[in-house]
Amino acid sequence: MTASAIQRVTVLGSTGSIGTSTLDVIARHPERYQIHALTAHTSKEALLAQCITFRPLVAVLDHEADARWLRAELGRANQPTDVMVGPEALCDVARDASVDIVMAAIVGAAGLLPSLAAAEAGKRVLLANKEALVMSGALFMQAVARSGATLLPIDSEHNAIYQCLPVEHRGGLARHGISQLLLTASGGPFRTWSESAIAQVTPDQACAHPNWSMGRKISVDSATLMNKGLELIEACWLFDARPDQIQVVVHPQSVIHSMAAYQDGSVLAQLGNPDMRTPIAYGLAWPERIDAGVEALDLFQVARLDFETADEARFPCLPLAREAMRLGGLAPVVLNAANEVAVDAFLNHRLGFLDIGRLVEGVLSSPLEGRADCLDSILWADQRAREHAAGWLKRWSA
Ligand code: NAD
Ligand code: MG
Repeated sequence: MTASAIQRVTVLGSTGSIGTSTLDVIARHPERYQIHALTAHTSKEALLAQCITFRPLVAVLDHEADARWLRAELGRANQPTDVMVGPEALCDVARDASVDIVMAAIVGAAGLLPSLAAAEAGKRVLLANKEALVMSGALFMQAVARSGATLLPIDSEHNAIYQCLPVEHRGGLARHGISQLLLTASGGPFRTWSESAIAQVTPDQACAHPNWSMGRKISVDSATLMNKGLELIEACWLFDARPDQIQVVVHPQSVIHSMAAYQDGSVLAQLGNPDMRTPIAYGLAWPERIDAGVEALDLFQVARLDFETADEARFPCLPLAREAMRLGGLAPVVLNAANEVAVDAFLNHRLGFLDIGRLVEGVLSSPLEGRADCLDSILWADQRAREHAAGWLKRWSA
């Protein structure tokens, strides 16, 4: 690869689980990738260490006081990285003309605007931030189509499906001979637990995922199966699928990352160790393949692959998400916002585990009228749903 082919990368959310895995892959290929910008919310020490290793042109933090600290430390280290502050700076480093690839790895609704900015600017967008697509699916896909951006899913399931589909797969599944997408789910840490045991779980138990190491919000989502619900919505947008064309398959070993079933009876699957560096490396190098630092899959050690249906009675967040997608409009925005409030309250010991689903169901039961066809209405619905959720929380704790 020649020097001119070096790709410039912005990593949004570089200090998180996906962000650090992305930098791990990038560090293995200095001849291919150079960092343009790294961003974090409040983890200034971690961002400083990353800046010293990867020498980005720009670093972004959320608070001016943290940024001042980072500027001073970088000055002491003789490092000329510009430190910027706040949400608009995140959009700037996502759309900067010199950037080729944007890894969208901020967690939650906070990632929407910068992820969308990357899509609008026609970048290669590596999308980990599934909440952005849940909130603004139609708008996001339109932005990609309009700008000619390349959208590559990083969520392991969607990355697996992407690998199992024809290169050109727009226009609905049937058009390409696909009968169904099989979205695998580990089932989370409480897959075999009774409802009464699940009612007592603590945040640390919920965050101890059996197969994947992830940030705390997505870990709780995996434990409630809301993650699979958000992924179902994500898959509908990415692959032009209806919710009834997607089957959730609980597969506790997390070796098959998802599948596509074709009308001729073929089922194509993508397998690998549960390590996010595989989909990240796929997204970075597509359509080439590069070393991701991931151990080869040893099928003899795996020995067996199990499959079950999801128990939607014990894990009501999955059917709630399916219902939100069926309702359409602003319902997925409301679902996502209520879930973010509920998960945050659970992580802060203000809510029990089973209350997460109850809160989401409660907020979703008073629908917001309107279409999710412009950013203003999406952001309005997000805000209203957060207020509703906060109201429910207040009533419950009174
Ligand atoms: P994480 O909590 O480990 O990291 C989140 C990153 O976003 C951090 O760098 C943090 O500083 C930044 N951030 C958080 N709030 C912010 C805000 N308000 N403004 C700006 N930056 C903010 O999360 P993660 O596990 O890396 O997940 C990131 C995204 O990727 C999520 O949307 C998640 O659903 C998705 N995802 C993660 C995994 C995984 O294995 N971790 C797998 C699939 C999809
Ligand atoms: Mg996933």
